[in-house]
Amino acid sequence: MGLWSRGWSGGEDGAMKQPQIAQPPPGSSSFGGQLGRGLRKRCPNCGGGNLFQGFFRLKPNCPACGYVFEREDGYWTGAMIVNIAACEAWFFFLFVGVLLATAPDIEWGPVLLVALVTNGILPVVFYPHSKTIWMALDLHFNPQRGLTG
Ligand SMILES: [Zn+2]
Repeated sequence: MGLWSRGWSGGEDGAMKQPQIAQPPPGSSSFGGQLGRGLRKRCPNCGGGNLFQGFFRLKPNCPACGYVFEREDGYWTGAMIVNIAACEAWFFFLFVGVLLATAPDIEWGPVLLVALVTNGILPVVFYPHSKTIWMALDLHFNPQRGLTG
């Protein structure tokens, strides 16, 4: 079911009704606040927790404010990009950090082993965070899309 079919409904007189917009709570609706909520696996709109049904499965709505998480098909591609970017950033800082700390006698074996293991584990561990971070980015840049119901 798409965004518009869920958000808009025809009235009994045939006129289109405006969708309800989830309002961010007063106070911490800054970009940093939204991003912090995403990093902590919390609702980017209200900061409520308990958003996941399992480790990987997100609930369809926020239990606290009703903010709709699932959008159109392909919505979570952005979360995949967040996850890949986090893993690449981790690898970059590991690589540069080891390079700067140990040059010119760099032990490539341990670096390669740590990089392989962490780049295998990090995308899995970071998966829920990547979804909530992506929702925070989406809420910040597309605030009108926080439809309820
Ligand atoms: Zn919420």
